[in-house]
Amino acid sequence: MDQIQIGKFIAESRKARSLTQRQLADSLGISDKTVSKWETGKGLPEVSLMLPLCGELQITVNDLLSGERVSSTNYQKKAEENMMELMKENEENKRRMVLSVICGGITIVAVCALIAIAAYMPLPTAARIALIVFALAVAAAGVGAACMLDVKAGYFECPNCHASFVPTMAEYVKGVHTITKRRLTCPECGKTAMCRHRIVR
Ligand SMILES: [Zn+2]
Repeated sequence: MDQIQIGKFIAESRKARSLTQRQLADSLGISDKTVSKWETGKGLPEVSLMLPLCGELQITVNDLLSGERVSSTNYQKKAEENMMELMKENEENKRRMVLSVICGGITIVAVCALIAIAAYMPLPTAARIALIVFALAVAAAGVGAACMLDVKAGYFECPNCHASFVPTMAEYVKGVHTITKRRLTCPECGKTAMCRHRIVR
């Protein structure tokens, strides 16, 4: 999917309906920055906004994802291509999410085993300390890898303006979180809120 092409097409379709970015944004209940982001190819509309957006622009989702008005002769072919691409992206994100969980699990087991050895095996003090230091290093590496995979899996959605975004690693790590939400600052509206983690846009 060509984000630049899709962005140009959104801009064209919006102008054809003589709407400003602001008017389009207002009718979708989002910020005009989000519309501008789409039109400059810096992001795709998230799935829940695609139908309302296409309604406003009087285009189909197939047109939107193709970045042009699709002729009726290759409509089905284009639709299938677009569907496959969306599914592929979804799958990659799911795989990263699963890897992240496995990575976290292995880390916990490894660290517990190392600490148990350090605590219960008859070892010289220096070896005990070395084992604990090693356990801490494994913990740090494992948590780091799990976070890296998780942050790349999908997007976070702002509850205020419904923008979807990928946070920086630093922001991600310091954000207070639950299983599905994380406290982040939205790059679109600047508000800090509990943002939902989504696999697909
Ligand atoms: Zn926001």
